[in-house]
Amino acid sequence: MKALAKAAGFFFRFVCMILTIAVFAGTCLVPSKSRAKEDLTADFIDYAYNSILNKEADGERFGFWYWNLKDGNTTAVGMIDMLTQSYEFSQKEYTHEQEIDVLSQMMTGKPADENTRQKYLYYLDSGISLRRYLSDTAETPEFQAICAQYQVTPGSITDLDSRDKNPELTNLVTVLFEQMYGRAPVKEEYNLWCTYFADGKELAPTLVDIVKSPEFTGRALSDEATIDALSSVMLGRTCDPAEKENYLGLLDSGLSMTYVASQIASDSNYISNCSAIGVAPGTVTVTEARDMNPELTSFLTRLYTQFLGNRPSAEELNSYVQSTLEDSGKTRDAIVDMLSDPDNMALFATDDEYLNAVFEVCYGQSPAPEKIEAYKISLRNGVTRERVLESILKDPAFDAKMSEYGIDTHVEKNVPEKVVALTFDDGPYTDVTMRILDALEPYDAHATFFVVGNRVNNYKECIVRAVNQGCQIGDHTWNHTTLTRISGDAVSTQINDCADAVYNLTGIRPVVMRPVGGSYNSTVSANVGMPMIIWSIDTNDWKYKDSDHVINEVLNNVRDGDIVLMHDLYETTATAVETIVPALIDAGFTLVTIDELAEYKNVQMENGKAYFSIRG
Ligand code: ZN
Repeated sequence: MKALAKAAGFFFRFVCMILTIAVFAGTCLVPSKSRAKEDLTADFIDYAYNSILNKEADGERFGFWYWNLKDGNTTAVGMIDMLTQSYEFSQKEYTHEQEIDVLSQMMTGKPADENTRQKYLYYLDSGISLRRYLSDTAETPEFQAICAQYQVTPGSITDLDSRDKNPELTNLVTVLFEQMYGRAPVKEEYNLWCTYFADGKELAPTLVDIVKSPEFTGRALSDEATIDALSSVMLGRTCDPAEKENYLGLLDSGLSMTYVASQIASDSNYISNCSAIGVAPGTVTVTEARDMNPELTSFLTRLYTQFLGNRPSAEELNSYVQSTLEDSGKTRDAIVDMLSDPDNMALFATDDEYLNAVFEVCYGQSPAPEKIEAYKISLRNGVTRERVLESILKDPAFDAKMSEYGIDTHVEKNVPEKVVALTFDDGPYTDVTMRILDALEPYDAHATFFVVGNRVNNYKECIVRAVNQGCQIGDHTWNHTTLTRISGDAVSTQINDCADAVYNLTGIRPVVMRPVGGSYNSTVSANVGMPMIIWSIDTNDWKYKDSDHVINEVLNNVRDGDIVLMHDLYETTATAVETIVPALIDAGFTLVTIDELAEYKNVQMENGKAYFSIRG
């Protein structure tokens, strides 16, 4: 018995030793699956693995988790965090919805309620990682209760990445990448960009830089798509059609995408959207010259498009706007040159099209119907587009429009040293008038023809040609009546009937008149409604019908500011003019109309007042 008891005692000790070794070995190496029945830590591992990965942990993993949980090296949520970042978990290829379902079931013991589900779906879809869900859910009473049940430490996630901290910001980065780069950001980009913006990087200038970046330009997005992209990032939505039309209009008028971005950035919706996200909106500073004067840029684009048939390049616009800032007179000249170029004019098939384009470009709008009508009359009867354009450019409305664009149209006049106004009364008469015009033409010399109203329609071509050569048509009564012998009303009728005839032919109403015989009195003065142009040199060409006499009268007496009286009825006058014109030019005179004479001498002529010469 004693021996047996001894043996039994030995055996007992032996078994105890074996068990101790086994437990010790298990402690160090493999916490066997044949663990103690009531091991809650092991149960938790099983629960977590089954819930999240649909399997049991293999021995090695099991041991790892078991002892780390036991020793407090890890927490419940720490373990879940690692499981959800494991290769096995990624192999599940769960949808965001499934991820939430799986983790909600595991961490709270029930499916997520609808609000929670929607919230985290939005987060996940926005680029927030699942860790945000784990972090938030670890704080819930449900998770705390489950952990208590298994006697594991719930723990918390303290090292959230910047992308997981502000869902709106992460969403912004997601949208920014999708819209601007056409791809999702990689994880490092997420954190980098979220950190940028969290640290105060301004959104609008950042987007402008992106638009200029190779990755963006490489995508070759259309303007419309670029506007949509900018709007999606900046306003959190695509443009409504009216906004888009407005922005496309800005681009169409020659402004840059940076300018469009600056417009979106100044939208109050943009500012409030940024403040909701917690990102600095910033402002866009335009740097290109064309963006600094949108009115001028838009005008130049219209001008090019209408008159050259092509849009200006950004470089051309920048250079024009830049030079306008430096010397606006040069820009005005360039504009006038472009408008006056016969090749450009020829692009318009009809006069109506031409007029519409000129008005649109010069005034930015349609002018008064009576102006249009007058120019149409001109063009219809053979007045050239060049001549009509000259009138349009002299209109104060043109100067007003140019000044809106920052173009100073006050051009210093090149005032000739000596000027003389040759005037011809009582015509037209083709045989003579045409010779006079022939004599003037080679020198671009101008004269004034005081026509008799009832002759106008018989000598249309003379008058139209005179207008096209830059000559002025004055009013010399309807039928050559001496005005001092008739009533005030009759004076008005004489003058108006002649003026109507000239207007109906040329579209230009005479603004100066010459009384027949130079005779006037107070009644005439009060009723002519125009300055009365008399003369300072009377050639008496009608009396002598002698070319030499006319030539000598003019060349022996002429002075700066003279008004010379002749009549375009006599061949001898035409012959004289053929000598007089080159002789005056040689002598340094510029041959001008009455209007030009007054302009050069800075004289504002008054209606009803008689002018014998205009010397200033
Ligand atoms: Zn006369």
